[in-house]
Amino acid sequence: MRILFAYAIALTLGISGHAVAVDGLSADTFKTSKGNLKVTVIGHGSLMLAYNGKIMHVDPFGQMADYEKLPKADVILVTHEHVDHLDPKAISAIRKKNAIILVSPKCADKVNGSQVMHNGDVKQVAGITIEAVPAYNLVHKREDKKPFHPKGEGNGYVMTLGNKRLYVAGDTENTPEMKALKNIDIAFLPMNLPYTMTPEMVADAAQAMKPKVLYPYHYHFGKTDTKKLLNLMKGEKSIEVRIKKKK
Ligand code: ZN
Ligand code: ZN
Repeated sequence: MRILFAYAIALTLGISGHAVAVDGLSADTFKTSKGNLKVTVIGHGSLMLAYNGKIMHVDPFGQMADYEKLPKADVILVTHEHVDHLDPKAISAIRKKNAIILVSPKCADKVNGSQVMHNGDVKQVAGITIEAVPAYNLVHKREDKKPFHPKGEGNGYVMTLGNKRLYVAGDTENTPEMKALKNIDIAFLPMNLPYTMTPEMVADAAQAMKPKVLYPYHYHFGKTDTKKLLNLMKGEKSIEVRIKKKK
């Protein structure tokens, strides 16, 4: 039974050969002009993408999964240096020998062999065009009045995979740069306080950007009010909101 389950997961992840036992993880599949894109929401800010025969991990975080057991990464993206996004131990567990690791500037000295992307930089990696976009707070600040995420430090990433565009926002609010993004098919927008967005801010950004599929992420299921977001998005028939039961 367990082996069958593991095999089913391996199929879901698009991996042939050895089974991958990852309890409770399942992928959402999107058709692109260059084959299927499979997106696994691991939890908090962590995602795994399977596309074009390659595995990409975004912000692998050891508290969300046992990275020793997940498919190894050809590409790793890190949005910023906070401990829930930059986890050097999870990165060493998941990186293939020649993995390409793209990070924000403050992460560079903590990950061997990483390449820095500044806001606005574009790279072609594993058949994917990856653009680093700004991720920062407008309103939410620490007690000393410094934003949790100062402008210019962290990255969101817009990935073009065949004819689909996926945006993973990182830790940010509904900035003008975010709201100006065009042709986004799949958007991951963070929704938790005090570090990122309220449901109202997520709805405001989504109503401007109009992704086809919206995943709020970086929240605690049951603690963050996901119903509020669903209510705010009721009138937006062209946007499908997907709520994942993740911590
Ligand atoms: Zn952060
Ligand atoms: Zn965070």
